[in-house]
Amino acid sequence: MNFFGRELPVFKAALHTHSTCSDGRFRPEEVIAFYENAGFDVLAFTDHGKVTPVAAFRSRMTLIQGIEMHPAGLPESCWHIVALHVPGDFVYDNTLSAQQMVDRIRGLGGVCIAAHPYWCGFSAGFVGGVSGFAALEVYNSSTRYIGKAYNMQLWDELLDSGTMLPAVAVDDFHSMDDFNHGWTMVAAPECTPEAITTAIREGRFYATQGPRIESLEFSGGVFRAKFSPCTEAVLMTGKWRGIKGQVASEAAEKGCCTSFEADVSALPRGSYLRLQLMDGDHNYAWSAPVAW
Ligand SMILES: [Zn+2]
Ligand SMILES: [Zn+2]
Repeated sequence: MNFFGRELPVFKAALHTHSTCSDGRFRPEEVIAFYENAGFDVLAFTDHGKVTPVAAFRSRMTLIQGIEMHPAGLPESCWHIVALHVPGDFVYDNTLSAQQMVDRIRGLGGVCIAAHPYWCGFSAGFVGGVSGFAALEVYNSSTRYIGKAYNMQLWDELLDSGTMLPAVAVDDFHSMDDFNHGWTMVAAPECTPEAITTAIREGRFYATQGPRIESLEFSGGVFRAKFSPCTEAVLMTGKWRGIKGQVASEAAEKGCCTSFEADVSALPRGSYLRLQLMDGDHNYAWSAPVAW
């Protein structure tokens, strides 16, 4: 895809996954088979409080070693922090604070993602109190059973407050009910754990439940995008504003919209822009934000 001026391959990634190494229903080998068969290129194991060593498994996918960490959060709810590209000898210390854990993972060359903040009962202000996240989860499939899978409003509140975080979509796979409902397309020169981790650290990805983004461009105050057929394309921006793209009427044929262009040069500066798509089956896709 063309990711804001760079032509790069994209890789379909499952970045938040559990196995029988913690509370997942399936052994790592079974989880690998499910995701291989669904066309994924990247799979990260992120078991609770435990690094699942990926060198023990064979796969055509790139396997990333991770962990889900649970430092203290609010009185009735701890943090859920997904750490990716964690060394095999990583010793999990649950007495550290959220900020200390994020700093430690970053110091080891990994990246951290704020997992399902709405489900945790967190506000944007609380999430923004910890610095150094590479992303937050805008969609988490396994939390949809209590209606808290989407974190779009919390994301916008973070962006409004000046925390320019991109967002991933994940299954948080525990059982087949969670499977293949949300994933992250990572734009990287090659599909190695290092290149994928670097791309995540640098914000080169988009989150999706189905729609494919082919190009994202922003230059000279004009935002342009091309994507698979969608019924809605909206450019989200700060506070109360938003820029409606092409929104198909209810009566129109599904999936009529495949491109978007908006000149934002007259808008006040100091905000952000992010593209939000929805296809005819109500599957969303979310671009990374750009500063404006
Ligand atoms: Zn979690
Ligand atoms: Zn999880």
